[in-house]
Amino acid sequence: MRELTILGTASQVPTRYRNHNGYLLRWDGEAILFDPGEGTQRQMLMAGLAVSPLTRICITHFHGDHSLGLPGVIQRISLDKVAHPVVVNFPAGGREYYDRLRYATSFWDNADLRPEPVSARFGGRPWEAETSAGRLTALPLWHSLETYGYRLVEPDGRRMLPDRLAAHGIAGPAVGELQRTGRLGAVTLADVSVPRPGQRFAFVMDSGLCDNVFALAEGVDLLVIESTFLAEDADMAAMVGHLTAGQAAAVARESRVRTLVLTHFSQRYPDASRFLTEAREQFDGEIVIAEDLMRVPVPARIASGDDRAPAYRQ
Ligand SMILES: [Zn+2]
Ligand SMILES: [Zn+2]
Repeated sequence: MRELTILGTASQVPTRYRNHNGYLLRWDGEAILFDPGEGTQRQMLMAGLAVSPLTRICITHFHGDHSLGLPGVIQRISLDKVAHPVVVNFPAGGREYYDRLRYATSFWDNADLRPEPVSARFGGRPWEAETSAGRLTALPLWHSLETYGYRLVEPDGRRMLPDRLAAHGIAGPAVGELQRTGRLGAVTLADVSVPRPGQRFAFVMDSGLCDNVFALAEGVDLLVIESTFLAEDADMAAMVGHLTAGQAAAVARESRVRTLVLTHFSQRYPDASRFLTEAREQFDGEIVIAEDLMRVPVPARIASGDDRAPAYRQ
């Protein structure tokens, strides 16, 4: 299963309807929790999610709306005696904040957390880690403190064609052998299969517009991106390192994103439909205006022959 569960959608302060941030991406065997803001433990309960499947926690930056839920999640991992290690990625320059949140209060510590700080420079190579879901990379973003956006890329593969296999009389274990070796007698893998592009996901917040926002979003199937402001407050957004709905949607258009999830809304706008109106002017793909406890599937794999040519392929 590949699905995003949205746990919270508010920037800066929660509202009666929106919790602070929190996003759980389930991708086959991986369960990655992004930016656990305050209240994430309870939001997971409300969404019917346990902490036991968690394999990784990714924190973009140490503002409270993205990280104050970490102590509760860690202590719940400990309480539930989660048997496997949980990797925690966070900006290397925020190590002191991580250490405080890790040991925020007294508790019986059973958690096997593996902190792996993230660091990369503007204009430099991305930070990288291998996961069972594919390669996870991070690039720095433009915000008021060290911040990273994340990108998950499944390796490209090949889709076997049953009619071609049958035509060549290949069945059973011979199929696996052909996949491993690329050739079976005179038959090559290309004779009986077509390319299957890997799926891609990106998580971008908080940031003003910069090249790395586009690099992270390039060709992804599902983009979760902050959309704090509307166009009427674009000057303020630029000043404080945030995006407007229109800017986020323009990123999705230029980066050839399939499904766009807008979130991290300022409480100053009571009518969320305005984010959709401004985004729709820029992007004609699927747009999701995030709400707490919403589930968004990673869109179904597109057929081969796709002509997207991502510039940022790991
Ligand atoms: Zn924020
Ligand atoms: Zn922030």
